[in-house]
Amino acid sequence: MELKAKTEQIVTALLDWFAANARDLPWRRTHDPYAIWVSEIMLQQTQVKTVIPYWDRWMRELPTIAAAANASSDQLHKLWEGLGYYTRVRNLQKAAQVVLEKHGGKFPQHFDAVLALPGIGRYTAGAICSIAFNQPMPILDGNVIRVVTRLFGLAENPKAKNANAKLWKIAEELVAHAKTQRRQANNSPVRTFAASRRDNSCSFLNQSLMELGALICAPRNAQCRICPANQLCVAFKENRVAELPNLGKREVATTRRFVAFALEWNGKFLIQQRPSGVVNAHLWEFPNLEVTGGKSDTQAAFKTLFSAKPEVIQPLATVKHSITRYRVTLEAFLVRLTKTRSPSSPLKILTCGTRLSPRWLEPHEFDSVAFSSAHKKLASAAAKSILSNR
Ligand code: SF4
Repeated sequence: MELKAKTEQIVTALLDWFAANARDLPWRRTHDPYAIWVSEIMLQQTQVKTVIPYWDRWMRELPTIAAAANASSDQLHKLWEGLGYYTRVRNLQKAAQVVLEKHGGKFPQHFDAVLALPGIGRYTAGAICSIAFNQPMPILDGNVIRVVTRLFGLAENPKAKNANAKLWKIAEELVAHAKTQRRQANNSPVRTFAASRRDNSCSFLNQSLMELGALICAPRNAQCRICPANQLCVAFKENRVAELPNLGKREVATTRRFVAFALEWNGKFLIQQRPSGVVNAHLWEFPNLEVTGGKSDTQAAFKTLFSAKPEVIQPLATVKHSITRYRVTLEAFLVRLTKTRSPSSPLKILTCGTRLSPRWLEPHEFDSVAFSSAHKKLASAAAKSILSNR
């Protein structure tokens, strides 16, 4: 089939399917570019069901660009606590400040101006311009790459320069065709747009590609039988669904082990804030160190961190998590200091030289600061240890 005709048919099939099957997500009830922008940044690397409560809370506490621009660092990190990839939230604030200073607080509509904002790449700029302003701007993220490579049977690695350029071209053609198929949502089961009479075809086409990738054209076990585009899909017809997209060899996972200490003194725990320019910058954590050996390293790590001999060290919790290609094991130990002993002497926190001030917090105060996900679990285990010691 000729490419143009095929593209048109795909667009029609996807727009019809989206109108009948779109999920009712809170950011789909608005055309406010700020609200859509926040959702797009949160959705990077994060699933929809995780994002919903975060987005709701963010929009309640920081309902405008000015509110986001002027929020304190503590508030921003607390609102993002658990979402990970915290550079996103700091860039979001920087961009909000630029919108305030350069664009008088009004989110820019021109693609190049959107793309120039901190933390906004080609995908996010395209998503905002198409969803908020119905502009025919293409998008290409992991979901869309999977759908398009399968629909068109593209065997090249999508990260390769030429293949990537080809994918952007196809995404461009799809959304350009959508522009010619004017769709209003007023008769559509997309309930969230029920009140809207404007044309949403570009917005809906891009969202339908993302939605198909999320719900039907999954990485494994794609549900091709119920896919609205299966009659047009090369991978389905040629039985190549499992082999596309061709992402090359997976990076080998690397294991890393850290030990952390929940140092308790008079019912308070020592925590410290991570500095700028490192992973999880500005978040709070229990003092910790990466180790390479076995159990004896725990004692050595304590000495390194505090320049003191460890007192009684009890296992507290073990948290396993993944960051990019790293499989991290974080083993935490509880160390109770005697009540009469001053926490500052002879304990010396070596890391203080490069970190912001440490704090001693009671467990009920843990909620006032933002922890990384792993250390949030340790905080909860530390709080329980106080209760069980009463
Ligand atoms: S037919 Fe299958 S592989 Fe092709 S787009 Fe639909 S779900 Fe994906």
